[in-house]
Amino acid sequence: MFDTLQDRLAATFKGLRGKGRLTDADIDATARQIRIALLEADVNLGVVKDFVAAVKQRCRGEELSKALNPTQQIIKIVNEELVEILGGQTRTVRFAKNPPTVIMLAGLQGAGKTTLAGKLARWFKDEGHSPLLAACDLQRPNAVTQLQVVGERAGVHVFAPEPGNGVGDPIQVARDSVEEARHKLYDVLIIDTAGRLGVDAELMQQAADIKAATDPSETLFVVDAMIGQDAVNTAVAFQEGVGFDGVVLTKLDGDARGGAALSIARVVGKPIMFASSGEGLKDFDVFHPDRMASRILDMGDMLTLIEQAEKAFDQEQSQAAAEKLMAGKGQFGLDDFLGLMRQMRQMGPMSKIMGMLPGVGQMKSVSDIDEREVDRIEAIICAMTPAERADVGILNGSRRARIARGTGVEVRDVNNLVNRFVDARKMMNQMSQGMGGGMMGSMAR
Ligand code: GDP
Repeated sequence: MFDTLQDRLAATFKGLRGKGRLTDADIDATARQIRIALLEADVNLGVVKDFVAAVKQRCRGEELSKALNPTQQIIKIVNEELVEILGGQTRTVRFAKNPPTVIMLAGLQGAGKTTLAGKLARWFKDEGHSPLLAACDLQRPNAVTQLQVVGERAGVHVFAPEPGNGVGDPIQVARDSVEEARHKLYDVLIIDTAGRLGVDAELMQQAADIKAATDPSETLFVVDAMIGQDAVNTAVAFQEGVGFDGVVLTKLDGDARGGAALSIARVVGKPIMFASSGEGLKDFDVFHPDRMASRILDMGDMLTLIEQAEKAFDQEQSQAAAEKLMAGKGQFGLDDFLGLMRQMRQMGPMSKIMGMLPGVGQMKSVSDIDEREVDRIEAIICAMTPAERADVGILNGSRRARIARGTGVEVRDVNNLVNRFVDARKMMNQMSQGMGGGMMGSMAR
């Protein structure tokens, strides 16, 4: 997702590189290209207009004329405006004063609600809560069973109507599930509700009734990011018919253009709170507007990368890597890279992780990354001496030939790896200089 947008924006900024001063004509041309990039990515027209107007206004203002490096300043402005349309600050879950905190999921059939219910439950569990799932989708014949399977996988109990008790009333089940949670001291209750293939009045009414009966702390609108502008239209319909507090984007692993989903927060004025990017329980994350913007601008998502590594693995090693990255000047070596890569590999497919690395998004489609290629990268780095890993600058022709021989690859493969690594690192250094308070700054916070 967002590949085209990334490519387009990268090309736009590349065209400006090296220019000491930007004329009004440069700014207009840039604004036009950004407009085309956003429209091509399927971002909502109204959102595009506002976005481009804001960027243009800021570029014409003092900000740019005072900047030492106008191109980096434009990237900074675009980044900040992107964060803004994505909802600004990261929005965390509001917990109820008196447990259980009720989280209700609403959305169309196939949006990914049931799958999400499991991921969310698992996430709450990992955060130290004791969640309960409630099966209130009594429309789809096997929805209850599906939630039970998902719950089992997540290790979370599912409250469901007894089989054979007739069709059941989802509003009553929802009410009972709140009682059950209160009674058995579950502090978070996640309610899965029924969806339809299209928006319809009965569906809206049922969701509104469940909402009224359970008074959720958060009603989350779950939407498939691959359905294009329909995502925006459906969001508007649900906002009017049911009302919600936050959005969950699903199927961000798909190859659709995705821009429509990025417009929802601005159009309905509600934040995107979570994002789902696969069918596995762990393919799920809190949505951070700033990190998503960095990712779209292909600055990589080093913060997420390092945070995930920190969470699961060797804290000291991750911390040291983060510090070296921030220090710039090539201190971040291949050893640090290898360390992070090994830690990350234990967490999931490398393709997902590589997508977070700066520059990689531009180089190839993330889904094309072959795990065997990652094995090869690891082997090449392992064939280097510690000194070579610390300073790739000493890798002359004969060293490269030795490494290639030792790994059973071509010298070209070694060159490739080194070049990619150096490019990515250079890019991060540039970003950290040009954007003082930006991504690199936020890593220190
Ligand atoms: P519901 O009808 O809203 O409950 O949707 P489901 O949870 O049943 O999901 C519909 C389909 O989408 C299922 O086949 C899921 O496995 C799939 N799905 C859900 N979330 C994701 C995701 O983030 N990525 C991908 N690729 N598939 C997903």
